[in-house]
Amino acid sequence: MTEAELVQHLDGLRKEYAALRARGLSLNLTRGKPSAEQLGLADELATVLAPGEHVSRDGADCRNYGGLRGLAELREIFAEPLGVPAGQLLALGNSSLELMHESLIHAVLFGVPGSKLPWRDEDRVAFLCPVPGYDRHFALCEKFGIDMITVSISDDGPDLDEVERLVAADPAIKGIWCVPLYSNPTGVRYSDETVRRLASMPTAAPDFRLFWDNAYAVHHLTDQRHRVADVLALAEAAGHPDRPFVFGSTSKITWAGSGVAFFGSSKSNVDWLVGHLEKRTIGPDKMNQLRHAKFLRDSIGLQDHMDLQRKVLQPKFDLVLRTLAERLGGRGIATWTSPEGGYFVSLDVLDGCAARVVALAAEAGIALTPAGATFPYGRDPHDRNIRLAPTFPPLDEVAEGVAGLTVCVELAAAESLLAAKTG
Ligand code: PLP
Repeated sequence: MTEAELVQHLDGLRKEYAALRARGLSLNLTRGKPSAEQLGLADELATVLAPGEHVSRDGADCRNYGGLRGLAELREIFAEPLGVPAGQLLALGNSSLELMHESLIHAVLFGVPGSKLPWRDEDRVAFLCPVPGYDRHFALCEKFGIDMITVSISDDGPDLDEVERLVAADPAIKGIWCVPLYSNPTGVRYSDETVRRLASMPTAAPDFRLFWDNAYAVHHLTDQRHRVADVLALAEAAGHPDRPFVFGSTSKITWAGSGVAFFGSSKSNVDWLVGHLEKRTIGPDKMNQLRHAKFLRDSIGLQDHMDLQRKVLQPKFDLVLRTLAERLGGRGIATWTSPEGGYFVSLDVLDGCAARVVALAAEAGIALTPAGATFPYGRDPHDRNIRLAPTFPPLDEVAEGVAGLTVCVELAAAESLLAAKTG
């Protein structure tokens, strides 16, 4: 567009935006959590155990103390989807984030198997952070004083040339955050080659860990039930059996606040974590694990349940993608991901425009995840990434929210392009 055309276009967009604001919307696209409809799919959890039903397969009274490693029948259901043999999988509390926090605490205070020193006694500890990524991973690093080194992420996973170069040279780099399937927020699926290289690359730190957050292992949005390569087997074959810490949970399978979280790894890592956990608790909530095992039944039951979840979620994602394509497609002012699973759509607007889009949307009553949230320290160096979370609001609110968002994207882009032209 010429400058005059752009001025005219901007004028039209300002009118459209004013009309949007006048509608007094109150919508929220920030929350990466299940909707009430999704939670309702697991309501049978409340009644699945009859009064008096409290004995696990091995004869333990689940109402009582003990059973720190979690119920075997539940671990067996999740062994295959999480890619961890049931004997090396722990079923614990209600949050995998808590287990990541727990793992870091003990690494910092005591070190992990293979550490020469507790991490707190090292001069410096750093983690690689593929970006855009999950803000809560970054918040954990910030809390524990772990430096964050960003690496870019492409369709196959993190930039492995960069990752290999960094970890080979710097012994302070003790870990990398990985969401290997349907990454938050990009929806990226790590290729087999990516997993193999991560599992086998030489690292300067002898106690380097893959923080393998398989939060979306069974959260497919298409007919394709994608899998990620077996990181534990690959690491073991490469001579690094202790490298992966695998995390997962039922948060987005059953009830997000009342689910079960899992930790899987080599035998020595599992024993290491159990050794620390046993000082903190006498055992997890086994009644919750028992009802989960009965409700989900087996891996087929889990798959059937996730098919029901998909029926609720797929229309919301389709709607977001359709609206973005209709309103912004081919315009050169935004790109976005088309995830085949997980919980998010990642939107990139013109450089320097994300914070403006989020502010415009907020003024129009559409809450978006703060710009920068998908980067360490909340700083997106290009100010371009916005995480969209369509799962929680009802379909009509997703429609209104995303349509309104596209007006903000267009307006911010036109403002920025005009400013560039007029200097
Ligand atoms: N990991 C990732 C990548 C997530 O996106 C989320 C939630 O959004 C979590 C972990 C939180 O998991 P949990 O509920 O098991 O703590």
